[in-house]
Amino acid sequence: MLEKDTISAISTPSGKGGVALIRISGDSAVEVADRIFRTPGGRVASALADRRATFGSVYAPNEELAIDDVLLTVMRAPNTFTGEDTVEICCHGGVLVTHSVLAATLAAGARAATAGEFTRRAFVNGKMTLTEAESLGMLLDASSDAQVRLYRSGMLGRLSQKTSEIYDSLCAVQSSLFAAIDYPDEDLAEMSFEELVAALTSAARDCERLANTYRTGRAIGTGIPTVICGKPNAGKSSLYNLLVGYDAAIVTDVKGTTRDVLTQSVSLGAVTLRLKDTAGIRENADQIESIGIRRALDELEDAELVLMVLDTSAPPDDEDLALVEKVGSTRAVKIAILNKTDAAGSAEHSLAFRACVDGVADECIEMSALRGTGLDALRELIESKYIDGTISIGNDAVVMNARQAAALCSAMEALERATELARDGAELDMCCADVEAALIALGGIDGRAVSEDVVSGIFSHFCVGK
Ligand code: GDP
Repeated sequence: MLEKDTISAISTPSGKGGVALIRISGDSAVEVADRIFRTPGGRVASALADRRATFGSVYAPNEELAIDDVLLTVMRAPNTFTGEDTVEICCHGGVLVTHSVLAATLAAGARAATAGEFTRRAFVNGKMTLTEAESLGMLLDASSDAQVRLYRSGMLGRLSQKTSEIYDSLCAVQSSLFAAIDYPDEDLAEMSFEELVAALTSAARDCERLANTYRTGRAIGTGIPTVICGKPNAGKSSLYNLLVGYDAAIVTDVKGTTRDVLTQSVSLGAVTLRLKDTAGIRENADQIESIGIRRALDELEDAELVLMVLDTSAPPDDEDLALVEKVGSTRAVKIAILNKTDAAGSAEHSLAFRACVDGVADECIEMSALRGTGLDALRELIESKYIDGTISIGNDAVVMNARQAAALCSAMEALERATELARDGAELDMCCADVEAALIALGGIDGRAVSEDVVSGIFSHFCVGK
């Protein structure tokens, strides 16, 4: 995994800007900079003090005419982001200027960095764990305050510290097990039999507790697959637009307006919803609308959260009853939205709707998508269902992705098997194998034991220059 050549990339977004940053990292970063940079007094990069931005000009190698005036900073290893010698060049942020400075670094001996290669080097050089690197990658895509807090805590190592603690406790268990197996007649094991069982049980529970935080981490981060459904004109698109924050879906009182499934990621308080607006579900639709309805029904099957919009401006009818039945057969968490509470007769009809959804919907909430009332109550309700209130986001360790959650579940299962075997006391070598499996799973989380393919997959999602 250890590449030692020198890489270079533009680290600021592509396009015109006030300033752009070109970053060079590797053993010959300073040499590369020497070939293209001079101060007005003729000093080269290697003559500059560490970590001091210095004014000068960048030239293509062996050219007299400067490409741009820049601020250049030399940061010598090991106290750098990548752990390698690093040079940062701040140039004017014109598209061509920036690419010309990059081209000069490449002509001077650097190689164009691949996606996430700087962060990958930071990981390989022990500057951050894999969990911290993953958090950093996710922070770049954060779109809510809760996501920023979550990924910052990951970057600060909250999760790595926790998995590391469990890992270390298991190493002690493992060495005691080895001693008990290899030297049965000598009293070399540091832990008694009871202590071994207790340590294994406690490590399994720690893995379980940590894995359980994924429900919260996922709700904040990747988001909950959520479908808005209802009969035509119930106010689905109005609710969708209210949640999205602008008029993304067409709202009319013509039935069958929404045909394609509209999809958007939406922040609702701390929670992210992967929201889908679907065609109104009804009988007797035309051919095109029927395709939309088919898609709506398919979406319902895959949803984890269903917002079932009911029009309380009129009493429940057969279409409403059919919808409630369909929604009732899904596995999702179901929230009945009693919409149009501003309409005449709504209070009375709402009571009838409540009776219809009784035993089907997990929760009922009154709203007026038109006026925006009930939105705070909906946010609080969804947060209470998906965010564990005992977790302090930003301070506590929280599992952020499926990879981490799957590894913790594997570790937990291996430890439960190991506990059973240790209790019997008969098959200590099998118990050892399960502890080893748990160690491998845990080691994969922070990257101390992880395959090249997994690492490449993670960093390939980063942008070039990060
Ligand atoms: P959809 O077919 O379920 O997507 O429903 P729309 O969002 O397109 O709304 C259908 C009609 O109901 C439009 O005329 C909306 O303005 C109206 N509507 C939606 N929500 C409300 C509401 O809360 N109160 C009232 N009075 N009308 C609403």
